[in-house]
Amino acid sequence: MVNADLFSGDNINDNKTGLVSKILTFSCVDGPGNRLVIFLQGCNYDCITCHNPHTINHCDHCGDCVEPCPTGALTFDDSPNKKVIWDEALCTQCDKCIDLCPSKSNPKITTYTVGKLIEFTKKHAPFLSGVTISGGEATLQLPFIIEYFKAIKSEKSLSHLTCFIDSNGSLSEQGWTKILPYLDGAMIDLKAWQNDTHLWLVGRENHRVLHSINLLAKHDKLHEVRLLYIPNKTDLLCEIDAISEYLKTLPEYITIRLNAFQHHGVIGEALGWDKCSKVQMEEFEAKLVTRLGRSVISPSIYT
Ligand code: SF4
Ligand code: SF4
Repeated sequence: MVNADLFSGDNINDNKTGLVSKILTFSCVDGPGNRLVIFLQGCNYDCITCHNPHTINHCDHCGDCVEPCPTGALTFDDSPNKKVIWDEALCTQCDKCIDLCPSKSNPKITTYTVGKLIEFTKKHAPFLSGVTISGGEATLQLPFIIEYFKAIKSEKSLSHLTCFIDSNGSLSEQGWTKILPYLDGAMIDLKAWQNDTHLWLVGRENHRVLHSINLLAKHDKLHEVRLLYIPNKTDLLCEIDAISEYLKTLPEYITIRLNAFQHHGVIGEALGWDKCSKVQMEEFEAKLVTRLGRSVISPSIYT
């Protein structure tokens, strides 16, 4: 348990705001124990295999989703720029707005202040081991996360909660350095080993990702590395020797989690790709475990 007095002198900006696309009040797959998971809108990757493509872009208030909304949950506000506003109470979560959005975005966004999110967290805190900020790419809203984690660490009734980030690893060393004092752990995706493959798959090079993994491990803040296995499309199998040698340089307490590519939520060309079967995953896992000399976590469900 954290000593909240250690953080009580930190100034906290309760009014800092974040754009939240979804909150799960209970998850046991987004870090250790029972976790409150806050999904932030916006991502700097454009992964071909994204399972939540509507979390990538921010709404530009074009209004294309307002008229088709069957319940009147979407309207224009009366500001000069006519922004689209969402009424959660009227929404039936049919996702028609998401399906037709030309910007791969989502009008169902709630702006939270740190103060409001802390009050929400307090209501669920007795049942939680911690909070995880996910996305989109969580770290694009780093100032909001820093203030939220600071507030958790300085509040005695929340001092049993650990603060985790689920990230694509693109944050700079300077960014990680700012959040490290308030961060307990991070889960990082390593989607491809070769730079060219990574660039093709997500639209960005992987140097930052590897640097983030190394930096977090050095500071004992790396909880998990996730490998997305897409048979015949990415290089995890053909580069298994190099990947294994790299993963062996990380401390053994760090979880290596394998994710199997599936079609759920995917749009575009990757829908034509083969899903990763249980047999394919078991073959990949066996080769990796032999080289690593330790166990990894593999999926229990294939859809
Ligand atoms: S969510 Fe998409 S369709 Fe709706 S207003 Fe925003 S950009 Fe337009
Ligand atoms: S999911 Fe979108 S389209 Fe459906 S009711 Fe809610 S706001 Fe309207």
